[in-house]
Amino acid sequence: MKKRLILLGASGSIGTQTVDIVLQHPDLFEICALSVGKNIEQLHRILASIKADTVCVQNEADAGALRETYPDTAFISGDEGLCMLAERTDYDVLVNALVGIVGFLPTLRAIESGHDVALANKETLVCGGALIDAALKKYGRKLLPIDSEHSAIFQCLQGNSIDQVKRLIITASGGSFRTKSREELKNVTVEQALAHPNWAMGAKITIDSADMMNKGFEVTEAHWLFGLDYDAIDVIMHEESVVHSMVEYNDHSIIAQLGAPDMRLPIQYALTWPDRFAYDLSHPLDLAEIGTLHFHKPDVRRFPLLALAYEAGRKGGCYSAVMNAANDCANAAFRQGKIPFLKIEDIVIEAVHRTPYTELNDTGDLMNAVRWGTEFAQKKVEETGR
Ligand code: MG
Repeated sequence: MKKRLILLGASGSIGTQTVDIVLQHPDLFEICALSVGKNIEQLHRILASIKADTVCVQNEADAGALRETYPDTAFISGDEGLCMLAERTDYDVLVNALVGIVGFLPTLRAIESGHDVALANKETLVCGGALIDAALKKYGRKLLPIDSEHSAIFQCLQGNSIDQVKRLIITASGGSFRTKSREELKNVTVEQALAHPNWAMGAKITIDSADMMNKGFEVTEAHWLFGLDYDAIDVIMHEESVVHSMVEYNDHSIIAQLGAPDMRLPIQYALTWPDRFAYDLSHPLDLAEIGTLHFHKPDVRRFPLLALAYEAGRKGGCYSAVMNAANDCANAAFRQGKIPFLKIEDIVIEAVHRTPYTELNDTGDLMNAVRWGTEFAQKKVEETGR
């Protein structure tokens, strides 16, 4: 029987590649509903090949126009529309490829309505990991990681017990600026930051890779996905992005997952797990061709946001959510040319250090933490511009 998917964030980088996977395996998957934000042009392209019964778009005005073009498809809109899709009862897996905190509630609603979630949205676990963890336990559901590092760890854990794990080892390419000193980082441009050496990704995450905030997020996500303490999660620099991450067991055996840097592989694994299906890859990994792999310790003085993610995670409560929200705002301000690159980390670090501790017991607490982090960062961005 075909797996019925709901795909949120269909026009983004992960969403587009999820559509590719579904089209490669029409016998395995069907997308019954999907969402895009404002990219209506891309939506037309998707609807030429995917027959979804319902589509959610960000603006009601777009939904109105689309109803006339596609009379057989239902169009809904807004954040409420995303939750309506997640709460449906007639699907198997929610693929959450949304970018931003808007991705949190649909994940929660999907779990509460009895679904597993293939997760690419970072904010779900970085901001609301504690709430998602509680819901997964209550409703007996699973998260299937899509991010390459978490997929690698997930794959390395298959057939083994999490109780026998000594530590998780997350690999980091170091992003676009891995060879630059802090002095050189002062004047880097948006264009330079967007040129990632190994992965083609969205703009926001490419900037997050350049200052390693993204790796910090991945540590936080790994903590919630696999239930290990922060002390048992390490990051190692690995410039080739061939080893996607590793698990060290009690006996010091290290199991690694290797592959070509193609996000469609972890997407497909999340959707076919526990099975593996053929995948049409033009350049499969050839280790003899690569010859050498490099690893070294990360320099946390050069990448302070990585250290900050550990600090925020260990403090608990609101801190990871505040960090994420402040980064969202500072990252966008850099991309808009409002602040220099190194100002991103100043703002995010200050936001975490200046925020008083609050607990995170429900969605209201989460949204308060996000608002606090956003407003703090906005104020700092405005001060920089003056
Ligand atoms: Mg990643």
